[in-house]
Amino acid sequence: MEYETVIGLEVHVQLDTRSKMFCGCPADYQSAEPNTRTCPVCLGLPGALPVINRRAVEFTVMTGLALHCQIPEFTKFDRKNYPYPDLMKGYQISQYDLPLALNGYLEINGDPDLQYGGRPIGVERVHLEEDVAKMQHFPASPENHAESYSLVDVNRSGVPLMEIVSKPDLRSPEEARQYLTSLHSMVQYLGVSTGNMQDGNFRCDANVSIRPAGSDTFGTRTEVKNMNSFRSVYLALEYEVERQRRVVEDGGTVVQETRGWVDDRGVTVSQRSKEYAHDYRYFPEPDLPPLNIGSEWVDRMRSALPELAPQRKARLQGEYDLSEYDADQLTVSRSIADYFEAAVSLMSETTKRPAAAKEVANWMIGDLSYLLNQDHRDIADCPVSPSGLLELLGLIADGTLSTSLAKTVLEQMYATGVSAPVIVREQGLAQISDTGAIETAVAEAIAANPKAVADYLSGKETAARFLMGQVMRITKGQAQPELALQLVQAGLEAQRP
Ligand code: ADP
Ligand code: MG
Ligand code: ZN
Repeated sequence: MEYETVIGLEVHVQLDTRSKMFCGCPADYQSAEPNTRTCPVCLGLPGALPVINRRAVEFTVMTGLALHCQIPEFTKFDRKNYPYPDLMKGYQISQYDLPLALNGYLEINGDPDLQYGGRPIGVERVHLEEDVAKMQHFPASPENHAESYSLVDVNRSGVPLMEIVSKPDLRSPEEARQYLTSLHSMVQYLGVSTGNMQDGNFRCDANVSIRPAGSDTFGTRTEVKNMNSFRSVYLALEYEVERQRRVVEDGGTVVQETRGWVDDRGVTVSQRSKEYAHDYRYFPEPDLPPLNIGSEWVDRMRSALPELAPQRKARLQGEYDLSEYDADQLTVSRSIADYFEAAVSLMSETTKRPAAAKEVANWMIGDLSYLLNQDHRDIADCPVSPSGLLELLGLIADGTLSTSLAKTVLEQMYATGVSAPVIVREQGLAQISDTGAIETAVAEAIAANPKAVADYLSGKETAARFLMGQVMRITKGQAQPELALQLVQAGLEAQRP
């Protein structure tokens, strides 16, 4: 039997506002000592009253607009009740039946292994809620008298959280990955979230079911939680699809339940079945006024939306004559695209031509991103500024540095923050194009390698390359390569009897 996979994603995005969702505490909960960023509101003390964060509402509406959603004129907040130690009030303020944004879509390219191709994936809703406190669990050990315990950090309680719920339109783990990547890029381009997955600023619950190919009713779904990277979402879905297929083929039925992904074992395990599902007893939040989002306000936000990755890619490709690959790489994040455009805009009018932009792109995509990846650093925090990179490229253009010397200089710029001209001057790294200096090195190489000389004279031309390598070694890589090869050949010819 052939099966079709059906996936719907619920994505939680922490909004990058200054203050929390309903109080004035700083929303940046991670840079502070635990339990130092709290107040009666986010601690859930009786009598404390919440106030809606306007910026968080704007960020959610912006996201809704970028996802082509309708923004209803009237929305409200609701209480979602459940008892848990990380939920300070015993309820979470969320949105139930009237979310801020409805019925949108996000384009994906589609899974090449399926027949559906590129298409819009439905977005059911985008709503706003508050995050809960952060729990840390410690297992029993001799040091804590063989008792396990947990600690609660309330700093995260009340941080604005936006939830984006897709329709069950995705048809494979690969499509889920595409949807997530492009949503992730979108929130970063919009500037509504850092999207940092390691810190949990962008998290996803995946709902998945299977059905016989060609069927138009849905199968029973499971919901998988605890994935903290795109890769683990992909692997968890792959695992879950296969697990469900085996259950069905063994004559069983899939149980609707919540399952947790265990990263180091590469499996999902049952956490909670439907019988134990919470009854949230939603009701309208009596401490907050309903919200009327005026159409003028929405229009203003719509016209202020920044350029998103797909448009920016198309524009960069056209303006600078870049390949599809380069344009993709340069628009992976807004900070990369900003860096590129900052560098290009600094070029003098004479050098502002496709070739020069292409060089900047090459260095960014190649050596610079290699250095950044090595210490997981965003290009926004790169020790080499766009103007610093241009200075380096200038030294290549005027012949001071060969490409390979420039790579060494870039590494040092990155490590020390010192500019290219200073590094070149202080370490005497400039390329040697002075014939006399190279000839001295050639003579030394020829004298030290009689066998290579004999080989060359008996017709083995590759011996000249070997000697050129020796010249580069003697000059610490600074000899201008073409000139070095020419002089080696001249030196060898002079040896003929
Ligand atoms: P809940 O609030 O219980 O999580 P929702 O109706 O909000 O339920 O659905 C949550 C997610 O589950 C949505 O992203 C939706 O697309 C997805 N979903 C619903 N039914 C299925 C199904 N049969 N298979 C896969 N995903 C599904
Ligand atoms: Mg759910
Ligand atoms: Zn607070």
